[in-house]
Amino acid sequence: MISVQEALTILQNNLPEPKIKNIILDEAFGCILSENIVAPESSPRYTNSAMDGFALRWADYHKSEGDQPVTRLKIIGESQAGIPFEAEVEPGTAIRISTGAMLPSGADSVVRVEDTEEKDGYVKVLELKKQGQDVRRAGEEFCQGKQLFTKGDVLGARELALLAAVGAHKVPVYSQPKVSLLVTGTELAAYDEATISPHQIRDSNSIMLASAVKEVGGLPESITHIEDSLAQTTEAVQTAVDSGADVIICSGGVSVGNHDHVKEAALAVGFEELFWKIRQKPGKPLFVSRLGDALLFGLPGNPVSAYMCFVNYVRPTLAALQGTTSIHQKLTATTAERLVNTGKRTNFIRVTVEDNPNAIAIIKEATNQGSHMLSSIVHADGYIVMQPGDVIETGSLVEVVLF
Ligand code: AMP
Ligand code: MG
Repeated sequence: MISVQEALTILQNNLPEPKIKNIILDEAFGCILSENIVAPESSPRYTNSAMDGFALRWADYHKSEGDQPVTRLKIIGESQAGIPFEAEVEPGTAIRISTGAMLPSGADSVVRVEDTEEKDGYVKVLELKKQGQDVRRAGEEFCQGKQLFTKGDVLGARELALLAAVGAHKVPVYSQPKVSLLVTGTELAAYDEATISPHQIRDSNSIMLASAVKEVGGLPESITHIEDSLAQTTEAVQTAVDSGADVIICSGGVSVGNHDHVKEAALAVGFEELFWKIRQKPGKPLFVSRLGDALLFGLPGNPVSAYMCFVNYVRPTLAALQGTTSIHQKLTATTAERLVNTGKRTNFIRVTVEDNPNAIAIIKEATNQGSHMLSSIVHADGYIVMQPGDVIETGSLVEVVLF
């Protein structure tokens, strides 16, 4: 058996290069940029009005300061959002303008409707504070060529909106890794089967792993359920390889039982073993192998073990395939109790984190650490890593990896 650190190092040394592609914005949600992006256009693209009102010349209004506090201007047309006023706003005239409409040449300021009175084709300006009032200047937010995004930025709703606004309709991103899930176990029944036999187990790993893959930007392309049969497992691994999967995640069938076939199936298809069995709890039987640029993870079937192995090994792999390493969110906290690892394996202790107003957060060991007890990861916020023999005294500082 190897240590957690040795396993992570081997994995690190076997990570394929991330793939890069240009993608349309509609397909880019959740993707990570593989290059910096500069603005293809300025924002705003054209000078326009920030308000509904009248566009006019400041000089007209300015002249009238003192004895005559307002200007009566002849309304000579309109600039609507989408329908510009094509002529010039001459001295003594104004045009009606709506929010976002192009400011016509000649005009340099906008007076809001509320600050005017309109009569017989003329507008009386009651108040205009300064030249350029309520005008959005072309390029005032940023000019063409300004860097908007940095390589590594994740494209969410706000980022996609900005890219759309400046006409960047395709962007270079890291390809989201294609993942095939192979879920083994003759005892498994689909979670939505109304009645199941007393000896059956509802499959919770499929939905857990598919969701966990999505959470880190991977694409769960297929989920295949297989019985504990070497032939079926081998065929399913081969199919996953043929489909071009970047990562194959198997659940169950990776231990030393007579009915555990994942490792043998992977080797039969041509995968080269990177490691099998790690001095860790939970998740000892984790099996990892490689064929070309494809990686196969054989996760233990116990749901908590499967999840912890996912978080520790698969999640960073999927992140690395998308050009990023900063995937684990960590928190420094203090322990509410004394913790001891009396075992011989590295222990991933699931913990709950309690906010502590104005002070450092406090952690407690989650109840039910059994690797078959899913509620223990649902009620926990993250985990701490304890090496064999480690003792953490009450009140000590610890690093929590958040789920
Ligand atoms: P295995 O690693 O195949 O020996 O499975 C270990 C334990 O996890 C057994 O109790 C299985 O019934 C359970 N198990 C395996 N696969 C799943 C699954 N997909 N969903 C829920 N439990 C599972
Ligand atoms: Mg099994």
